[in-house]
Amino acid sequence: MIETKGLKKSFDHTEVIKGIDAQVQQGQVIVIIGPSGGGKSTFLRMLNMLEQPTAGTVTFEGQNITDLPANKLDTVREKMGMVFQSFNLFPNMDVLANVALAPQRVKGSSQKAASEQAMTLLDQVGLADKAHAYPASLSGGQQQRVAIARALAMGPDVMLFDEPTSALDPEMVGEVLKVMQGLAKEGMTMVVVTHEMGFARKVADEVWFMDGGVLAEKGTPEQIFDHPQNERTQSFLAKVL
Ligand code: ATP
Ligand code: MG
Repeated sequence: MIETKGLKKSFDHTEVIKGIDAQVQQGQVIVIIGPSGGGKSTFLRMLNMLEQPTAGTVTFEGQNITDLPANKLDTVREKMGMVFQSFNLFPNMDVLANVALAPQRVKGSSQKAASEQAMTLLDQVGLADKAHAYPASLSGGQQQRVAIARALAMGPDVMLFDEPTSALDPEMVGEVLKVMQGLAKEGMTMVVVTHEMGFARKVADEVWFMDGGVLAEKGTPEQIFDHPQNERTQSFLAKVL
């Protein structure tokens, strides 16, 4: 579903992604782990062209999206939901309106249809009772679950997550991971950057270890966590496990 070939990115003449060839198949859950500054976010952001590659290509659903004009890129991005560390909900709208907004604005859904769909999604993330609450009155974990529902409202084919639980108090991490696990179970294709190794072990089909701008090692959770081959994977895991 997603394929990168020779993907590179430089900032100010410093190459931070050094040629990544990778594939994500439909229905797969990929978890990307690795040390800070290794290029995880930059790589993830290139998958939907939030970051323009310096070289190489990204193919999504058979289409090379690397040099698409902005209007065509918008259509592609609708198929790629993204959830960040910060939730960035619209503070002046209630939860339901946050989730229902994009389908109305972008897809021309009626208010009724968008609201009904938003209620279904809020139910899915366990927040139907908060539909008319404002973001500021919610906990971080609740806000992040709304952000996930908002991304799902566009009907994406793949969900990209960049450290979705890193900004949360520890007691709220589990509720967000549970929603993500549910999505995976339903067959959503997902690429998840996270430091939650328990989630990676339990939910990932493949774990990718990124370090120094390269995909240093990839494998099943068992291969990566129990029998890492690469020395850098071994020393990273020794620190975090
Ligand atoms: P973390 O775990 O801390 O989030 P990461 O693996 O996501 O790290 P990136 O954020 O992708 O790493 O950063 C990779 C490298 O690229 C780092 O050296 C970073 O300083 C650099 N970098 C990222 N974004 C920019 C930018 N907009 N301008 C300049 N350098 C950048
Ligand atoms: Mg990052």
